[in-house]
Order: sequence, then structure tokens, then C-alpha cells
Amino acid sequence: MDKFVHLHLHTEYSAGDSIVRINELMDEAKALGMDALAITDHGTMGGVHKFWSAAREHGIKPIIGCELYVKDDKTRTHLTVLAKNKNGYLSLVKAVNLANSRGLEDRDIFELKDVIVLSGCMSGKIPRLILGNEIEKAREVARAYKERFGEDFYIELMRTGLKEQIALNETLVDIAKSLNIKTVATNDVHFLKKEDALTHGLFVSMNRNMKWDGNVAYGSDHYYLKSAGEMRKLFEDLPQSVENTNEISEKCEEYDLFVDIKLPFSSDRDCETLKEKIGNVSDDRKKRLDRELKLIESKNFCRYFLTVSEIIDYAQKAGILIGPGRGSSVSSLVAYLLGITTIDPLKHDLIFERFLNESRTEDPDIDIDVEDNARDDLILGLAQKYGTNNLAQVGSYGTLGSKAVIRFTGKSLGVNERVIEDLAWRVSGYDSIGKAIVENQEFRRISKSDEVKALVSYALKLEGLIHHKTIHAAGIVLSDGDLTNLIPMTFDGKRWITEFDMESLADLGITKIDLLGLKTLTNIKETLGGKAKREDLMNIPIDDERIYEILKSGNTSGIFQLESASASALTKKLAPENFNDIIALLSLNRPGPIYSGIADEYIRRRHGGAVMKDEFGLDKILGETYGMIIYQEQIMKIAMEIANFSESQADLFRKAISKKDPAIMRDLKEKFVNGAISKGYSENMALKLFDSISNFASYGFNKSHSVAYAYITAWTAYLKATMPANFMVSLMNSNISDPAKLSIYKKELERLHVKVLPPDINESRALFYSEGKNVRTGFAAIKGIGINLGRMIEEERIRGKFENFLDFLSRMKKKVNSKSLEILILSGAFDSTDPNRKYLIDNMEGLIDLSEGGLKMIQQQLFGSEERKALPPIENYPDYSPSEKIKLQRQYVDLLFDLEGDDFEKVMERGHGRVAFQIFERDGLIFATDGKNELPFSYERPLREGEMYEGEFVVKNGNVILSRLISSSNETYIYLKDPSEIDSYISRISDMKDHRLIFKISNFYIILEDKTFKEEEG
Ligand SMILES: [Zn+2]
Ligand SMILES: [Zn+2]
Repeated sequence: MDKFVHLHLHTEYSAGDSIVRINELMDEAKALGMDALAITDHGTMGGVHKFWSAAREHGIKPIIGCELYVKDDKTRTHLTVLAKNKNGYLSLVKAVNLANSRGLEDRDIFELKDVIVLSGCMSGKIPRLILGNEIEKAREVARAYKERFGEDFYIELMRTGLKEQIALNETLVDIAKSLNIKTVATNDVHFLKKEDALTHGLFVSMNRNMKWDGNVAYGSDHYYLKSAGEMRKLFEDLPQSVENTNEISEKCEEYDLFVDIKLPFSSDRDCETLKEKIGNVSDDRKKRLDRELKLIESKNFCRYFLTVSEIIDYAQKAGILIGPGRGSSVSSLVAYLLGITTIDPLKHDLIFERFLNESRTEDPDIDIDVEDNARDDLILGLAQKYGTNNLAQVGSYGTLGSKAVIRFTGKSLGVNERVIEDLAWRVSGYDSIGKAIVENQEFRRISKSDEVKALVSYALKLEGLIHHKTIHAAGIVLSDGDLTNLIPMTFDGKRWITEFDMESLADLGITKIDLLGLKTLTNIKETLGGKAKREDLMNIPIDDERIYEILKSGNTSGIFQLESASASALTKKLAPENFNDIIALLSLNRPGPIYSGIADEYIRRRHGGAVMKDEFGLDKILGETYGMIIYQEQIMKIAMEIANFSESQADLFRKAISKKDPAIMRDLKEKFVNGAISKGYSENMALKLFDSISNFASYGFNKSHSVAYAYITAWTAYLKATMPANFMVSLMNSNISDPAKLSIYKKELERLHVKVLPPDINESRALFYSEGKNVRTGFAAIKGIGINLGRMIEEERIRGKFENFLDFLSRMKKKVNSKSLEILILSGAFDSTDPNRKYLIDNMEGLIDLSEGGLKMIQQQLFGSEERKALPPIENYPDYSPSEKIKLQRQYVDLLFDLEGDDFEKVMERGHGRVAFQIFERDGLIFATDGKNELPFSYERPLREGEMYEGEFVVKNGNVILSRLISSSNETYIYLKDPSEIDSYISRISDMKDHRLIFKISNFYIILEDKTFKEEEG
């Protein structure tokens, strides 16, 4: 027999270390005539299911194993372990879970059952001892393994071209002989072919974030899938070590990876419990309920429904807000009656079979929306409820996308960053680099240039490989037993995460439950004071006319699902007048209906445009949508009523027609036409109807989902209309690190006449909050000041306001570094206590010294016994000029300014533009500044200093002048040289309602409100 089985092999699941893709591996193994293959990734079994199924598809026997990491004094050693059967597989899974939580120890290895142990690579314990010249110790370890595993322990020999291996192998063979242990040859596979060695070398450097030195990794190009012939030749002198690979392969049985994971508390009584929980219903619902229950029972989904409802009950008790429902499960009356959803499907005419039917083979899929801030709490709470080992979050793998692989490869190759970014930009919008090369001539040309030729060719080879492990955004797995005995996982200190991804879990029949974080729920809850429950939301009147007013106006920023510019335009055009309009709007608000013109046609008909004659008698089904198919449920209903399809046939029809598979379509067309004929339609009519359905079908949307989300849309519109400041504050807080979004919301606030106040050391909180009629900027919105520091400032202030900068320093000194201090000063946070920003910046060190020394220091300064230089007096210390101030402030809180605006330079260049500016007075003259340049400013109505304005500027006679003020406050600010001018101004203003007139004469302010005077010193 001239066979050889690779028993030490890394796939791409050894993340960052191997470039072996499982399917390519199987093809190559097949081509080399191999009929068995092992997988031994580093410390993980994440790839074993994919490996197992691909191997079986290719007629190759999968041998499941792992290169385990075992704790050793200071470091960790490697050990190759293979499962002999299912029991061994589960034993190995358990070991990996131990390794991934508390770490594996030697004694854990001895607990392994039904496995074959190979002594490992050069990092194995035995080889390490030998290389460290502790040969007797090595022999002892080998003896211990032999005693424990007997014939299933092998001394592993590698000849991968490393010098150290020569002497090492001699000793290994020697120990093997002396202890009567068999040897086995392996090749530690990390790439498929010899010519992949350099690509692998680059990949390894790349994942260590290092510049590539141009060499192969681990000092050799031998780590490829060598043929049996090559391996035999390599071990010519030790033929038994090659023969033993076959022996081991034969010892390993073929088995499946299925495990029996039941949901918690599963019992034979589940369906009765479910019925008990639902209780009695009125007669008109009985028929529907029975139909649903029959199906749920026949599919064995009772426990699933119970579990989901338990999760929701738990969340409600914990005060965690859950959404009204999402996806097709909203169509289930059972889900409604169990409180899984809060929407009555009968009220909205939703078909249950869209969610579950006879033909459906997969698990039901009830997705749960959870307020995003509390999603993690919910998961950890559930872990406590069901047991930490009985719950896992679903893991997932991040792969190298086209852009990422270009960036990583380019960086590792040391290509100029600008060139890399250019290439990354060019590839975006294409599915892959290969596609971009084929479809984009310019990209093709550039990819051949000397500068990036190598980059592109390596990136092509690495694209799509696994890069890192992450957590799936939604899924959790729940079990009535200890999952650590059943599936490989990692532990992050709080919860388990499966090493199998979603597809692997589904393939293995493991049910997952999706908990999705939804920011909007957090916003709604916060707007309502932080305590809102689902019932409170259901009490919001969805037909309140203020909802429809705000939607019609198109001011949809912050309104659920309608935030984008295109959604806002569509909303304005559709001009919703009732809740059904919102449902339709959400269904139409997708690229398909918008670009196909279906949305426009719908809007035309909605507003009285002529509707074509209903030649098919479909008015009952399509009447609510003016004769158009916009919901998938309508397709199902047509199939049932016209073509006599059963509910589950109708659902298949719905699925097939939207996928537009020609073969299935042909088959369906025949069935449809025959069905319609049997119902009395002519063949001609049936064909016509089929064609018109198939044209529209792909644009149809899941109505159940639209109904559920239309509720959230209506709620957010209601809150925005009735509690604008609170609502916008909550939106700003959930987007606090997204300047672009903040700027949109700030504009919306301005439109609503709510002002955003600058940060203030004594007024700001960590987050935004509404302060009277205005909104105060939160510390976390200042670039470089995190939410944590913001919270600490807030906390310290409980003991009293900060008197000034020095007081702040002495109370906060341990918590704030000088960079944060600088940012706080420049962002204007100390303006209310210490208005001279430049003084604080220039003398920060001295001020810090002073605050540290406290009183003693002041005394020392006073009595001159201190060598440190005294602080300069603050009187007459020059502050930054107004434009400098803005420029510096803008770096940290550009929210206060207009992000998209131009500046005065642009206006000069272009002749016009929109600029955000401030006004200041210098030597009796008024200037405007955009933070960079200053210009003499005049306007019919003087403006107040220190406020941001927005205006349209034009160039006239070489000067930039204001042509129109866009935003303005209800204050007019007037600079006077002489008090006698006051009267002439007052006489020009007829209406003083809600308006303040402020005169400034030298340092003296006169404030006029409702034509009464107040005086203040400024
Ligand atoms: Zn190793
Ligand atoms: Zn290895």
C-alpha cells in the first residue's frame, strides 16, 4: 500500500496562521488520490463541521482533531490529538472548551477518552524538553503518555526542512524504540502547494501586523500538502512512520457530529403547557388558533414558542424593553397570545403560513428586538437563569473582504498609503477583486502597474480568508444540558461563544434564537423617561394626527426606518394619512420598488390616480393597495384563491417566484395555470395573471414585518412631534461618537427652535440632556473626552459645583490628564468660570503645581520662599483672538458649528457660499469670523457676540458680505458708541414679543425685554 494520511493539518480556522481553504483542500487531496484527511487547527475546532461535511461530499474520510495548547510552567506546549470515534470527538470538544476557559493542564490530557495522541510539533512538550537537553525528562513524559494511552500514543516526526529537526528526530526515534512507542510522520500543513509558501509568509506577517520581510514563515516552504509519494520518500529510512498514518486512519471511525441539544425544560407536556399559557379565546379566533396550534404541535415547536415567551417575560420583569415583534412571526396568533408579539395578526389580516407551514423544514424563526443598551444584560441574565454552561452566543468569522485585504496586504508589503487607499477605493462596489479586474478597465490597467502588481496578486490569493473571530449580532443557543460537553466554544469571561458559525449550527440542527439590539427602542425608552414598557408603547395613539403632520412634512430625521434622504423624499411624496399608509410606505421604501417605478405608481394611485380595471377579480386581495401587489402575502393569497394552491404550496410559490429560478418557474406556471382553469378562469387569463404576478413578485415585501415596524415608525414620529427635545437628545446620545449624525440632529433641533448649548464644566453631563428649552452638549460629544471622564466629572459635581479651574484641578487631578484638560479648556468648558482660555493653556503646568500644593503653595509663593516661577497675573493677559478661539474649539466640538458649510475662503473663490460664523467686536468695529478668517461685518440688524450664525455670503466689489442670514436667534445685539443712540433703535422695533434687545456700550450691557430695561455689568 503506498498511501499516506495527513494527520497534522491546519485550515484557515487556525486564524492568521494557515491559508488552507477547506474546499480547495478537498479538491487537492482528491487530486492526490487521498481518501482520508485530518484537521488539527490551533486550539480551535471551529472548522471541524465544515471540514467534516466537505470531506464527506468529496468521498474523503474526515478525521477530527485539534492541536491543543497545554499550559506549561511559563509557556504553553502543543499536542496533536485525534478523535477515534464520536465519544472521542466529544471528549476533545470538552478539552477545547476547557482550554478556551481556564486553560488545559497535563492532567486534563490524561482525562481524554477515545483519542489518539501524537507527541506534537517542535513546540510539543516532549520535543521541547529534548531541544532543551532534558532528555530523561522527555522520556518520562513519553512513558506517562504511553501508560495512559497505550497503543494510541505515537511519537510524531516532522521533516519540514528545519535543521534542529535532524537531531531532534534521532532522539525521538530513540525514545520511541526504548519505550516501544510507535512513530508517525506528519507535515504540519499550513498551505496547499509549495508555491503558496510566500503567500503564506506574507499572510502570517500581515496578521501579526508586521511588515513582511519577503520570506516564508517558520523558516521553510515545506508546510504544504505533500503527496503520499513525497512523504514516503522523505521518510524512506522510517517507512513504518508512514505506514502508521494508515493505521491511525483505520483506528478512526466515521461518525457524524450531531448532538442532541434540547431547549431548557423540554418535556412531553410542552404542548399542553403552551395551550394552558394561551388560555381561552373568543370563538372568532378559535379556528385560526387551532390551525396554528396543530401545525406547531406537529412540527414539535411547542417548546420553542414557550422558550421565546419565557425570554420575553424575563426581559419584561428585568425592565428591558422588547419590540412589538419583527419578521414573519408577527403573523402568528399564538405568538400574539403568548405575548411574544404585541400585534394582533387578525386585525391586520396577516397570514400565518407565511411564517410556518407544512412544507417548511427549517426551525421557526422568531426574532426578538431588544433595546440595544440592555441586550447584553439580557443575555447575561438569561445565562444566569438557565445556567452559564447552558447558553452560548453564536460565533462568527470575519473574513478578508476586498478592501481589507488590499489594505492589509499593501501595508505588509510597505506600499505607499495613498496608493493603497486609491486601490481600496477603486475596488469598493465590486463583489471581489477579481470582479473589479474583469469589469473595470481602469482597475485592470492599474492592477498591472509595477507599483501594485505584487499587491494585487497576493491580495487575490488571500481575499476571503478567515481573519478573526467575532460574535454574531443576534443568535444565542440555549440548552437543557451543559453545552461545554457538546459543541466547541470560547469563553470571554462572562459567556460562552460557539466556535461553530450560524451555518454549521443550522446544519447540525441546533436551534438558535435571535435577540437583536435595536437602538430605536433605547431612544423611545429614554424619551419616555427611561422606564417605558411595551404596554406604554402600545398605548401611544398611532392615529394621532401629529404623526401624519410630521411625516407629510418630510422632516423624518430620527424617525424609525425613514431617516435616509430617499426615505424622507418618499415619505413626503406618499404623504401618509393613516396607519395603513405607513405600512405601505415601509414596504415600498426599498431600492426595488423605488427604482422600478412601483413606488411612484403606488403614490399616484394612492392620491386618486386612475386604477386599472380589475379584470381578474382581485379587488378583495389587492383593494387595500389600489390593485398593486406590494406584499408577499398578496402573492400567496392570489395563488390560493385563483390557482387553488394550498397554504404551504402558496408559500413555496411565493419563495420560488421571488427567486426567479427558470426551471421552478416553468413548473409553477403550469400548476398555476391548471389551478386557475379548474377554478373557472380561461387559460389566457391565467397566463396573463401569472405573468403579471411574476413581474411584480420580486418587489413584494413581508407585510407582517412592515406592520410591526410601522408601529415603531409611528411611535417615533409621535415622540418627535410631542417631545422633540427629549427625543432628539436621546438620538444624539445614541450617536454621540458619530459627528455626521450629530450634525443632522443638531440642525433638526435648530429647526425646532431648540438651541444646542456649548459644553460647560458645571452644566454639562456625560451625555446630552435637555436644559430648559435648550439642549446642553455632553462631555462625551467632545472629541477626546470619553464618556467615562464625563461620568467622573458628573459624579464629582455631586459634592458641589467647581468654583474655577483650580478647584477643578484639585478635585479631579487624579482622574484627568493634561491632554483632556487642554481639550476641555479649548472646547470652552471653562468659559463660565475662567473665560481666558489662553491663560489656562499657557499656564497649565503652573496651575497644576499650584493645585497640587494647594494653600501651602500659595503661601510659599506669597512669601517668596519658592523657586518655582510665579504665575503671571491674569489681568490684561491676552486671550486668543475670536477666530483662533473658534478654530481651536472646532477641533473638539464641531457639532456646535456647521459641518457641511463653506468658509470665507471658499466664498472668495467661488463668489458665494454658506458659512457658519461668529460676531465679535474689536476696537469699536464689528467682525465676523469663520474660525479661520475675519472680515469686517455689517448687517441691517446687529448680532450678538459669542453665538453661532449661519448665513449666505457673496462677493461684491472684492469684499465678502452677508446677503442673507439663515439662522438667527430671538435676540438682537446692538453695539453703541454713545447711549444716546438707544432711542433711535428702539423706535425702529415695533414688536418686542419674545425678543431681547441687547445694547452694549463699552463694558456695559442694557437688555431690553418687552420694552423694559435691565442693566448688567459685562
Ligand atoms: Zn504546533
Ligand atoms: Zn501545527
